[in-house]
Amino acid sequence: MTPDSRVYAYSAVLMGSPILLKLFEHNESLASGVFRLIKLQENTFTVNRPHSDIMAINHAAGRDPVTVSTPVFELIRRAKDISCLPDSSFNFTIGPLVKRWKIGFSGHSIPAAQDLQTLLALTNPQDVILDEQTRSVFLQRAGMEIDLGAIAKGYIADVVRDYLREQQVENALINLGGNVQTLGAGAEGAWAIGLKKPFSSPDALIGVINVAGKSVVTSGIYERYFELDGHCYHHILDPKTGYPLDNELLSVTIISEDSIDGDIWTTLLYGMGVEKSLAYLKQIPHIEAVFVTRDGQIILSSQRQFTFSPLDDSYRLTV
Ligand code: ADP
Ligand code: MG
Ligand code: MG
Repeated sequence: MTPDSRVYAYSAVLMGSPILLKLFEHNESLASGVFRLIKLQENTFTVNRPHSDIMAINHAAGRDPVTVSTPVFELIRRAKDISCLPDSSFNFTIGPLVKRWKIGFSGHSIPAAQDLQTLLALTNPQDVILDEQTRSVFLQRAGMEIDLGAIAKGYIADVVRDYLREQQVENALINLGGNVQTLGAGAEGAWAIGLKKPFSSPDALIGVINVAGKSVVTSGIYERYFELDGHCYHHILDPKTGYPLDNELLSVTIISEDSIDGDIWTTLLYGMGVEKSLAYLKQIPHIEAVFVTRDGQIILSSQRQFTFSPLDDSYRLTV
């Protein structure tokens, strides 16, 4: 028996993404338990449907505070804290801009500069009032919208990991469409997570990230974008300008213990660019990164939590 034949893969489409679960036993009921859990979380956090806990907050913008459950309150608090960091490129009140651009959805278009200014005024994270006592969230201005798209999948990946641990699972992988979380070391001493080749077929890889019991989150501008007049408009927006973040990066991958950190840091580092990110990461040893740049480089930070195997000669590896 080859090691891989011990791995059982289960898949579903949830949160608008293909979801993959790998287990070391044939266990349909455990897999359904995981997918049910993800669905429950999706129903709580989505902004792509009329009803969810987040949509209740958005619908009440400028009018009423909305009381939410403790986990939802805590996630929003975390998102606000990160958004309020000085010069943060992460902004969880970016919703009005995301809705206007519709990048990755039908009906996308480039907003007029004046529209962007109007919408930017609705994206101040300080305008989200959190009340600890009542566990309520109040968007002070009508038209404000929370969007947890840059943090929710990471949070949910950790929820799944914790659930699997409770079920005594020691070796497993969950991939929530770009957000991978792992337990144990897979079949061959490490889980192998592919690093996608930008703007190529989905199975084309430029390298493999090997981890055990860590999260691997990638955010790339080639995942959701549209092209117009030779320009690529992708789905990570600059909260300062309202336009897609524009720099040398094609993707940022974060290796960390918790997937929520990976999800947050991909967005933060995107805004910083490679040089500033590498300097910054020196101070936070539990967060490590792989950058892919427009000029064909793969740049690695420290590698305490992962190893990297290159697969494509047309990319230069810089350590
Ligand atoms: P992915 O969709 O590849 O997982 P991210 O985790 O980077 O990518 O999240 C991107 C999503 O987050 C966007 O689709 C949008 O909903 C939202 N978003 C876009 N720009 C920002 C930003 N600057 N800060 C926070 N959220 C953002
Ligand atoms: Mg994400
Ligand atoms: Mg993210």
